[in-house]
Amino acid sequence: MSLSMDTPLSRVVGPKTAKAMAEQLALHTVRDLLRHYPRRYARRGEMARLDDLEVGDRVTVLAQVKRVSTRKMQRRHGTLTEVTVGDGAGSMRLVFFNNRHAHLAVGEWGLFAGTVGKWQGDLQFTHPDCHVITGDDDDWARALVPIYPASKDVSSWVIQKSVKLLLDDPRSLAEVLDDPIPEPVRDRHGLVSLATALLYKHRPESAAQVEFADERLKWDEALVLQATLAARRRAAALEPGIARPRRGGGLLDAVDAALPFSLTEGQREVGEELAAELAEEQPMNRLLQGEVGSGKTVVALRAMAQIVDAGGQAALLAPTEVLAAQHARSLAAILGPLGRAGELDGDPAGTRVVLLTGSQKAAARREARAAVADGSAGIVVGTHALLQEGVEFADLGLVVVDEQHRFGVEQRDALRAKGARPPHVLVMTATPIPRTVAMTVYGDLETSTLRQLPAGRGGVSSAVVPAGEKPAWLDRAWQRVREEVAAGRQAYVVCPRIGDVEDAGGGGGKDEDGPDDADAPPPETGGASDRRPPLAVLDVAEALRAGPLSSLRVEVLHGRMAPEDKEARMRAFAAGEVDVLVATTVVEVGVDVPNATVMVVMDADRFGVSQLHQLRGRVARGRHAGLCLLVTEAPTSSATGQRLTAVAATTDGFELARLDLETRREGDVLGAAQSGRRSGVRLLSLLDDEQLIAEARVEATRLVEAGRGLADHPELAAAVAALSLDERAEYLEKA
Ligand code: ADP
Ligand code: MG
Repeated sequence: MSLSMDTPLSRVVGPKTAKAMAEQLALHTVRDLLRHYPRRYARRGEMARLDDLEVGDRVTVLAQVKRVSTRKMQRRHGTLTEVTVGDGAGSMRLVFFNNRHAHLAVGEWGLFAGTVGKWQGDLQFTHPDCHVITGDDDDWARALVPIYPASKDVSSWVIQKSVKLLLDDPRSLAEVLDDPIPEPVRDRHGLVSLATALLYKHRPESAAQVEFADERLKWDEALVLQATLAARRRAAALEPGIARPRRGGGLLDAVDAALPFSLTEGQREVGEELAAELAEEQPMNRLLQGEVGSGKTVVALRAMAQIVDAGGQAALLAPTEVLAAQHARSLAAILGPLGRAGELDGDPAGTRVVLLTGSQKAAARREARAAVADGSAGIVVGTHALLQEGVEFADLGLVVVDEQHRFGVEQRDALRAKGARPPHVLVMTATPIPRTVAMTVYGDLETSTLRQLPAGRGGVSSAVVPAGEKPAWLDRAWQRVREEVAAGRQAYVVCPRIGDVEDAGGGGGKDEDGPDDADAPPPETGGASDRRPPLAVLDVAEALRAGPLSSLRVEVLHGRMAPEDKEARMRAFAAGEVDVLVATTVVEVGVDVPNATVMVVMDADRFGVSQLHQLRGRVARGRHAGLCLLVTEAPTSSATGQRLTAVAATTDGFELARLDLETRREGDVLGAAQSGRRSGVRLLSLLDDEQLIAEARVEATRLVEAGRGLADHPELAAAVAALSLDERAEYLEKA
């Protein structure tokens, strides 16, 4: 038979197995199967003996089936199968529900892997991994038995045998395998060939072979990903945009003159960098990262002003309506008459700042769109609504995306497509991005960083309030809020939920409120059902008004309020007419009220690390010292409690980003747009493989930029194409 990587598995294994592999494990082709790597290896030499197991051990035992009995469960629906196994030294019980592995027969030997438990005095495994060893198979005798991610009808054992079919035929294997890593690259980095790597990975004879395989297979993933990004950069570089050189005597100079402070050194440097790139025909593609409060907005405004001076328009895309409105407001404030060109009191030398959001009234939106289309609005601030069809720009020269972590690559592209020629792009994020993530998710962008906060900031200190263990501490927290307000300051109280009728399916504000799923830590124990519902804004506000904060002016803010109300509430808070704002995460990003100095986060354990860091940034914005209290019912000693303690212990964004990365899976970090199969990342760890990713980036850039680029490396090009094909498939599915 002639095989290729794309040969359907139905031509390699039996039809029933092929169907189950496709449906349960998403394995369709030879490529999928060869890239379905063992999760771990059972080591025969280190196989545990049944007589020295301890409860809680995670082990694999080699044992013989002594007895099998299946019965109906009394209290629950379904059946229970008990299997007793022994290895001569001892015995233990295996328990399976609903006929899984009821086929085990007395006398068979098998490998059983699981966590040792105890029930009625006897050791037991509850639904362990099982691998029956059949007499005609010598594979169990290997030093390392691969254990594959398996499913109901496709056991690890079946996968092992199917892979063996492919690997045992060296002729067909060699034919199948196009090595995506060019030989010189392999040589430079001491990597084994793909055929060898797969052999080592699936049928290792030593732990060292697994290591060789892993190193090489990680390179595959890193190189393909980096080549994809390098190709993207190269393509973007080939499509010219419009040069927008700096022109004196215009809006930019006016902005600089109007600023109530002098720029930090970092702002000045990044500003020069941007000014130079905007003056080029090649579109700028830059990521600006800077700690919360480092003053990114001003940097963006100055870039936008340069574009307006050069006759173009700039769009500022914000993730929430609150933030979009705030940006529009503060830009208008800085620009003064210069932002109201065409109005009675406007300065004809200026431009217009317009706001465009989804919840605007039809008339207002129509007017805003018209100003965008005829070019009279030089600066357009908006939410996702900017991406919609029907929003046409006269001459879009710069797209600024604020707080990028809420936006996908597709959305960035959608906005970019609104220029006749590709506009310059500036992406701003306050979530510090570890270098590896910057090299992968944002790998098509160049990076600038603002390291310094404007001088005279009070800084923020944080503490965990274990309300479950020490209820008195919570009282003390409210006392602190009262003290701050008495001193003329203001406070936020953040809750994970709005409350009231939202669960009946309210809808609105869904993407602005509440912990971000992708960001939230995985639940640790038990189902979600045995936790009480998260605290809600409406309930907490009521309790505070009636209780500890009854003497203060307490108001609420959440995504389900009408946009005018939200706007008015925010404005009142900014004006100091509200003491305490009880809110959802609508205040997470970018909200800027320097007089607010305390934040109390209720149910802090429901939020992700970077989200807490963002939230905390709201109270470190003025010259007064800020205080952030993370209230939780989780015990201090639990993993959740420790995570919060770690957040409280540092404000170093890069360290927190690392902590965040540790609590999330790689796929989550790569984002919905680039996760899992799509990104082709299985072995690569963004946390541990920084060096490898950096080296792969160098090699990929070199390959893509030399000669005819990827065309000179058909195998790598094919792997890149396979990746983008998956990408496209998924994109269509979503649409
Ligand atoms: P972020 O980087 O989090 O978006 P902002 O751009 O919102 O931060 O800036 C935070 C605050 O710092 C704003 O009130 C802004 O006016 C102020 N600010 C910005 N740059 C400076 C500076 N150079 N000196 C003093 N204050 C500044
Ligand atoms: Mg900001």
